[in-house]
Amino acid sequence: MSAIKIGDLVIGGRQKIMIAGPCAIEGRDQLLQIAREVKAQGAQILRGGAYKPRTSPHSFQGLGPQGLFHLKEASDETGLLTVTEVMEPEELDLICKYADILQVGARNMYNYPLLKRIGRTDKPVLLKRSFMATVEEFLLASEYIIKEGNHRVMLCERGIRTFDHITRNTLDLACVPILKKMSDLPVIVDPSHGTGRSDIILPMTMAALAAGADGIMVEVHPNPKKALSDGLQTLDFPHFRELMDDFRSLCAYLDTREEHRSQRSYREAAP
Ligand code: PEP
Ligand code: MN
Repeated sequence: MSAIKIGDLVIGGRQKIMIAGPCAIEGRDQLLQIAREVKAQGAQILRGGAYKPRTSPHSFQGLGPQGLFHLKEASDETGLLTVTEVMEPEELDLICKYADILQVGARNMYNYPLLKRIGRTDKPVLLKRSFMATVEEFLLASEYIIKEGNHRVMLCERGIRTFDHITRNTLDLACVPILKKMSDLPVIVDPSHGTGRSDIILPMTMAALAAGADGIMVEVHPNPKKALSDGLQTLDFPHFRELMDDFRSLCAYLDTREEHRSQRSYREAAP
């Protein structure tokens, strides 16, 4: 496993990671309020889009550079690491200056010039699976980044498009153990985009952890009904607290199980 170290945080090690925050950065107060809350509940990384890849060009497109300044301020105040999406190579220098982790969105997983350009930076990357990508295509996309010299890539399963619209996407949890067999990159699961439904984020988070995910990414907002994007798949604060309670309990159980397994294999290997 090629664990990714960022400061004191290790992604892809024993500890499972929580990445939480709004879909889009909507303003300074909104982001600071969310950052304080997710930090208090134990998240390690704050997410938030400053440049938003919206399906409709008429929807809110993000605050751009101003959003990045808010992200940096929230990080400086709380000590949270930050992740934000890069859509164009021209934005890259500014984003590298203000954020800790570069997100490649599902819509850009096939944007090979962007992947190569990101591969020439020294920033960790969260690469999201395209909604139409096979596991092999997903892994090959990660190799575009790695081949340029940047090895700090984590893979993010965020649902694929199927015939069923009862969920926004079909969260492909079978790909988690498969990705872990086929590569040594950390795997993150995003049950917000993976389902499009805040009411099933909790069980899908539990399932993702049980399947071996190294971390979870969820959307959180003080008032999801008023969110400028993705409100339906966004947790409010009380539900995020509830999620974190179960997250902690399951992580503790999985850690103990891991401990027992390693002791057993140690004993079995002993002469
Ligand atoms: C996001 O994380 O807000 C996002 C746009 O995700 P995706 O690229 O997976 O749709
Ligand atoms: Mn979103």
